Amino acid sequence: MEADQQKTRVVVVGGGVAGALLAKSLQFHAHLYLIDPKEYFEIPWASLRAMVEPSICERTLVKHSDYLTNARIITSTAVSINSKEVLTGEGRTIVYDYLVIATGHAVDSTPTTRTDRIQQFQQDNDKIKSSSSILIVGGGPTGVELAGEIAVDYPEKKVTLVHKGSRLLEFIGPKASNKALDWLSSKKVEVILGQTISLDSMSGNERVYTTSGGQKITADCHFVCVGKPLGSSWLQESILKECFDTRGQLMVDENLRVWGKKNIFAIGDITNIPEMKQGYLAQKHASVVAKNLKLLLKGAKESELAKYKPSSSSSGMAIVSLGRKEGIAQLPFTTIGGYLPGVIKSRDLFVGRTRKHMGLDPHPTPTHTS
Ligand SMILES: Cc1cc2nc3c(=O)[nH]c(=O)nc-3n(C[C@H](O)[C@H](O)[C@H](O)COP(=O)(O)OP(=O)(O)OC[C@H]3O[C@@H](n4cnc5c(N)ncnc54)[C@H](O)[C@@H]3O)c2cc1C
Repeated sequence: MEADQQKTRVVVVGGGVAGALLAKSLQFHAHLYLIDPKEYFEIPWASLRAMVEPSICERTLVKHSDYLTNARIITSTAVSINSKEVLTGEGRTIVYDYLVIATGHAVDSTPTTRTDRIQQFQQDNDKIKSSSSILIVGGGPTGVELAGEIAVDYPEKKVTLVHKGSRLLEFIGPKASNKALDWLSSKKVEVILGQTISLDSMSGNERVYTTSGGQKITADCHFVCVGKPLGSSWLQESILKECFDTRGQLMVDENLRVWGKKNIFAIGDITNIPEMKQGYLAQKHASVVAKNLKLLLKGAKESELAKYKPSSSSSGMAIVSLGRKEGIAQLPFTTIGGYLPGVIKSRDLFVGRTRKHMGLDPHPTPTHTS
């Protein structure tokens, strides 16, 4: 059991967009622990560019120790909690006074070290470069953005995108879906909607893939871009088991505390806040909880806690990038495509902005080290 009797202990589980920012904001205010299976923070919306330009990783993968200079970083998966401790996959128990759950989406085969993650992007890039034809499975933001990156950087390659839904980008409105389809078609990406490809029967060396509709697709390689499940399964048998909604999201109150729990907060995509799941909103959750924890650490009253107001636009605001210069923006009252969304997102993919938010140099000098 790891504890420090002198200070209030805050444990943040999940070092993604929300958890990393929260940990950074609180590191000098409490005895802070960050638990994450990866030794680094990754800017998720830059990962598709990293597949066509691996050198971008220098700026998009940041070791937790680079922005957390006054925290204990535990590189492990959390596997359960009780009313006072978090249990890790390595059998450690970390005592908490306050706990913040920020496990967004489940971790899959993502490498735990920054060096291995860079190597993975390099391998993906080699795979793209050595293939004449590429199959992308999934037409959500990941599949569409990857198709866009490949179509722009490698226009000579034949790209096919298969999506089981009736339209692309189902997390936003149909206007955005149509614009994405038109743009991809203009770049000669073949989009097949309403069909699936059995992932179980796929192997890395497959050349001919058969869709659920019997259509044959020849491709030298494939990338699976289907959404990851929420990172909540590790809590299903814990003291929070009654705090999930039917979608597996943690129910939070207006102060972003898990329902009925005075000392447990949740932020980011894991929460049931009725708004679009976006990183800029996850960062807002982190700011509200940082404020609330600072107040609680100073002994403030419950009534003084800040309240989170869900993002007001009913349809939500999101930008999907399409290669290096163009994009599609769904704004509260309109949806636009072309160069303006590209200027906002696609050029730098908010990398400089996100780094600045984390207190890091937006444009560090390349070191070519991991
Ligand atoms: C292609 C794409 C483009 C996007 N573009 C944008 C954009 O332009 N703007 C925007 O605002 N949003 C964008 N988003 C959405 C944004 O990435 C998410 O909303 C955001 O990442 C959510 O942050 P989070 O911290 O809740 O979760 P995540 O970023 O998923 O982080 C979860 C963290 O928890 C860790 N974790 C998981 N399980 C455990 C466990 N059991 N124990 C310990 N740690 C655990 C993971 O390792 C990870 O570090 C995009 C998403 C995609 C897929």
